[in-house]
Amino acid sequence: MDQCLFCKIIRGEIPSYKIFEDDHAFAFLDINPFGRGHTLVVPKFHAEQLFQLPPEELAGVMPAVQRTATLLKRRLGCEGLALMQLNGEVAGQTVFHVHFHLIPRYAGQPAGWQPLTPPPSPEDLAALQRELVG
Ligand code: 5GP
Ligand code: ZN
Repeated sequence: MDQCLFCKIIRGEIPSYKIFEDDHAFAFLDINPFGRGHTLVVPKFHAEQLFQLPPEELAGVMPAVQRTATLLKRRLGCEGLALMQLNGEVAGQTVFHVHFHLIPRYAGQPAGWQPLTPPPSPEDLAALQRELVG
């Protein structure tokens, strides 16, 4: 837990582009997004995967997922939004603290899941954060 990347982000030991926080959840921009506005919502409770997350903590984080999704849709005008949550390396999980990917989807975007290339710069992400929460 001490060395967990997302626990460090929640504690503010590693900087992030924060979008939302409440007692149960923390939401911040993904630095390697699959679409403009790609945001991660994480429970403050450390669990590696969905299987270890106590149901009450799952229930605690879901309002933040919905609230953040609504914020993204309103502010960015995306036509759709994908919610993804990966468990295990074979599923593509790379950070072992449960997280929900909120990925805005825009009309005309190519189908499938590819990171934006080039990835956004720190300035791009800071501007997007201001657009979302400013
Ligand atoms: P996973 O593949 O485990 O479902 O997703 C991990 C996500 O965390 C990836 O989309 C990756 O871009 C993102 N990520 C990895 N390191 C950092 C970081 O230091 N800061 C932020 N904001 N996102 C990160
Ligand atoms: Zn953690």
